Amino acid sequence: MDFEHTARVKDLQARLSAFMDEHVYPNEARFFAEVEANKAQGNGWVPTRVMEEMKARARAAGLTNLEYAPLAELTGRSHIAPEALNCAAPDTGNMEVLVRYGNDEQKERWLKPLLAGEIRSGFAMTEPAVASSDATNVSASIVRDGDHYLINGRKWWTSGAADPRCKVLIFMGKTDPSNSSVHRQQSMILVPMDTPGVRVVRSVPVFGCLDEPHGHPEVDFENVRSKRCAAGRCSGPRSTGSWRSRASGASASRTPA
Ligand SMILES: Cc1cc2nc3c(=O)[nH]c(=O)nc-3n(C[C@H](O)[C@H](O)[C@H](O)COP(=O)(O)OP(=O)(O)OC[C@H]3O[C@@H](n4cnc5c(N)ncnc54)[C@H](O)[C@@H]3O)c2cc1C
Repeated sequence: MDFEHTARVKDLQARLSAFMDEHVYPNEARFFAEVEANKAQGNGWVPTRVMEEMKARARAAGLTNLEYAPLAELTGRSHIAPEALNCAAPDTGNMEVLVRYGNDEQKERWLKPLLAGEIRSGFAMTEPAVASSDATNVSASIVRDGDHYLINGRKWWTSGAADPRCKVLIFMGKTDPSNSSVHRQQSMILVPMDTPGVRVVRSVPVFGCLDEPHGHPEVDFENVRSKRCAAGRCSGPRSTGSWRSRASGASASRTPA
């Protein structure tokens, strides 16, 4: 098998290497200094200026999240490079889900700004009450209620949900708890962060660190209502995540305790 990279990938590797040398490594100290300064001023959850500057430079350099694997090898050398190149979790996985399963409206509303690096997103699967390494244990509920879905549950480790740029979550819950196959009981649904009933409870520390300004918070979902998709667009298998959620009304509380 030929593992040689294509000429295009080699060119991208060279350009990314130059970008890392010129913009990422020299800014690592500035990134952490900015986070520390924000924390010292009482709010570590402010997105950093240096990250937005790097993202703009990466866009200008034509570095996108295409032809990813050989480039991830390079970006993995710095804590701050993946976000600068818009290749950071959980956005990359969420963007892939939207590309594959999103309808046109979902792509317009969420995928485009994610690809442009204008917003961020989260993935709400893990729950404090159950062993979530086995996703069949997930217990949050998504219940059909007329032309809405009603969502209730408590999640934690929802990386990025405390970041003010995080505008949407992919939420996993049970839609068919009595299905004889435990692997066919759950579905995923898009939940805009400003949907009434979505509340960031606290940020969960990892080895004593809160990982500002990203964070991995605990998030409560109480009677969160999501509107169903237009007929015909969402009739596929429930586990594809092809449902749309619409929000209206008051903003969610997002300041972690
Ligand atoms: C920094 C960080 C970021 C994260 N970001 C996200 C995120 O964005 N979204 C999200 O949804 N989650 C996120 N997670 C959560 C992560 O996916 C879970 O912690 C992981 O899936 C394990 O689930 P758990 O914590 O419930 O552990 P558990 O499932 O309770 O597992 C604990 C231990 O018990 C073992 N175990 C579990 N069940 C059994 C069994 N039946 N028999 C024997 N052993 C068992 C496991 O192997 C493990 O060693 C994040 C976690 C961290 C630390």
